[in-house]
Amino acid sequence: MGSFTLAGFKFFYPDGIKWICKRCSNCCRDIDVRSRHILLLPGEASRIAKISNMRKNRFSKKSEEKLYQYEILKVKGNCLFLMGDQCSIYDYRPLVCQFYPFTMKSDGETSIISLGDQGCQGIGSGPELMGGYFKKLALAALKFLRD
Ligand code: SF4
Ligand code: SF4
Repeated sequence: MGSFTLAGFKFFYPDGIKWICKRCSNCCRDIDVRSRHILLLPGEASRIAKISNMRKNRFSKKSEEKLYQYEILKVKGNCLFLMGDQCSIYDYRPLVCQFYPFTMKSDGETSIISLGDQGCQGIGSGPELMGGYFKKLALAALKFLRD
């Protein structure tokens, strides 16, 4: 496991993982082996409401999570914002989408990034991910969580 410190927070990330996105869009939909939950922070839900000009309840429902209080609605198992194979809100896509197939659990000053979904076709392909990749994710998380 590798680690780095950012803004006083300690992050751990998995070593030796090869991954590349194969653009299959499976992370934007339910697949046989799992149902996808696209969770949103309150700030993300507000931002998407603003850029899409939709009320929150048109694209999300309340989740039971403490931190991620909303979940994007799906249509026939596809994320509401998936158009063909493209994310229609790509520049504003939520943290859980930016992190996929990884997830992050935080406990005070320490955060652990780990592989969260084995259903991703890109796992095991492409280059080995180094600390810089996970640092970018951590920076995005810090930005969102501070908003
Ligand atoms: S499931 Fe994996 S490979 Fe497919 S689009 Fe999502 S991140 Fe890329
Ligand atoms: S918000 Fe975009 S990236 Fe995230 S699941 Fe929906 S379509 Fe995919």
